[in-house]
Amino acid sequence: MSDNCIFCKIIKGEMPSYKIYEDEHTLAFLDISKDVDGHTLVIPKTHAVNVLDITEENYLNVVKTVKKVAEHYVNNCGYEGVNILNASDASAGQSVFHLHFHLFPRCSGDNANLWPKNAVATKSLEEMQQVLAFR
Ligand code: 5GP
Ligand code: ZN
Repeated sequence: MSDNCIFCKIIKGEMPSYKIYEDEHTLAFLDISKDVDGHTLVIPKTHAVNVLDITEENYLNVVKTVKKVAEHYVNNCGYEGVNILNASDASAGQSVFHLHFHLFPRCSGDNANLWPKNAVATKSLEEMQQVLAFR
């Protein structure tokens, strides 16, 4: 737990939230932003900053819950699909520094634009493979 972490406060019940699912290791609750109906956050109960910080074991627990909630939305709640997003580090747009996956339930024609076309690439695929491939 981290004293000043808003999501740790939600886990401890010190801040209210609209819970969707909870187990020993994880919690899913509605995002406060009301940007897309059903926008859900899935978090580990053990504080970790992001994907770069969390232990593999705790990470696996979070992604299992992401899958469980996604399947529930499609199988039981009338949705057709989901978008799953994560920002790890401020450079990637992370604003709350307790790891979370955003889960957006989707239906054809819902007009949510969660995959904007924003081509900023300047390098060839060959150049990027040179930079990024495991050696
Ligand atoms: P990030 O920008 O780190 O990827 O996402 C943080 C998310 O946390 C935002 O979508 C924001 O709306 C949500 N958020 C911030 N504070 C609270 C809160 O107190 N309660 C809930 N439910 N969501 C929050
Ligand atoms: Zn926390």
